[in-house]
Formats: sequence, structure tokens, C-alpha cells
Amino acid sequence: MPDTRTHDIITVATGALLAPAAYVLLESGGRDDAAAGAAVLTGAHLISGLLFSPDLDIDSAIDNRWGFFFWIWRPYMWIIPHRHFWSHSLVLAPLLRLVYFYLVTLLIVVWGAWILGRIGVGVPDLHAQASAWLFDAMRRNPDMVRLFIFGFISGSAAHTIADWLVTGGKRYMRMAGIRLRRDYRNHDLK
Ligand SMILES: [Zn+2]
Repeated sequence: MPDTRTHDIITVATGALLAPAAYVLLESGGRDDAAAGAAVLTGAHLISGLLFSPDLDIDSAIDNRWGFFFWIWRPYMWIIPHRHFWSHSLVLAPLLRLVYFYLVTLLIVVWGAWILGRIGVGVPDLHAQASAWLFDAMRRNPDMVRLFIFGFISGSAAHTIADWLVTGGKRYMRMAGIRLRRDYRNHDLK
């Protein structure tokens, strides 16, 4: 399968194609909205490919990009088998990573609030407030949510499709190699 650098190039190149295409498609709704929509879509595509890559299911270069927070992805890495349906499917896998990230972030906030509570700094319901704020913002901007999710899925799909193409290509080369060897042997026998 392609290495991380190749996947990065594919992510950026497909993102560069996606941005103008999205702008043209959204232009009828006004130029400002089209620019904002194209930015959200392309941003989600890049974030998905570079930070939320399907290869978070192995100890790859991707989790290092999370710096101090690399451990967020350790349980994911332990639970999800490499290149499995749960990490490398077109639609379900990126959405699962998004839900996983949301739940882990929520746990960190709950835990942080608990620690602060122990040392006497009361921050009641911080996780509930943050969630309420997030879902309220999503309700008010349904079009942007749709564009974000579309970009998040396309960023991951660009990776998965590249993996499939390389695996398929290698299989065909192997088949061709076997056939070539056989032809060669036949040639020798004649
Ligand atoms: Zn992969």
C-alpha cells in the first residue's frame, strides 16, 4: 500500500481539485456562502486525510501528528484490526473515527472537570454545556454540517481507494508474473 507521504500527496492533490469544484457547484447560492462552503468541505477533506487517516489503526506516522494527544488513538489502534472494514471502508469508517474522537474528547472533559472539582474549582456540567453548544451550532448550520461530513468522508475515501488500487495492482502484477514465468518455462521446454 502507499506510504504516508504518498497518501499525504493524494490527500492534498484531491483537496486542491475539490475546492474549485465545490465553489462552482455552490456558486448559485451566493459567492460568500460558496467560498465558506468550499473552505469547510476542503478543510474537512484535509483534516480527515492528514489527521484522521484510516492508518490510525496501526502505529503509523499519523498518531505522531497529534503530538501530546497521540494516546487518544491508542485504544482505537488496539481495538480495530489493520485495514479492516472498521477503519478502511468508504463511509462508515470515517464516521466511526469522528464519533470515537467526540466520545474520547467528552471523556477527557468529564475527567478534567472531575480533577478540577477535586481541587475545589467547580465547573459543573462542562461536558454537557460543550455538547449543547456543539449540537446547537450544528442545528443552526445544517448545510455546513453536510459539507463537513462530505469532506470528511472524501478525505478518508481518497486514502482507502488508493490502498485498494495498489493492492489490486500488485495482485494483477503477481498474476502476470506467474503467467510470464510459466510462458518462459514453456518457451525453454520447446
Ligand atoms: Zn491504509
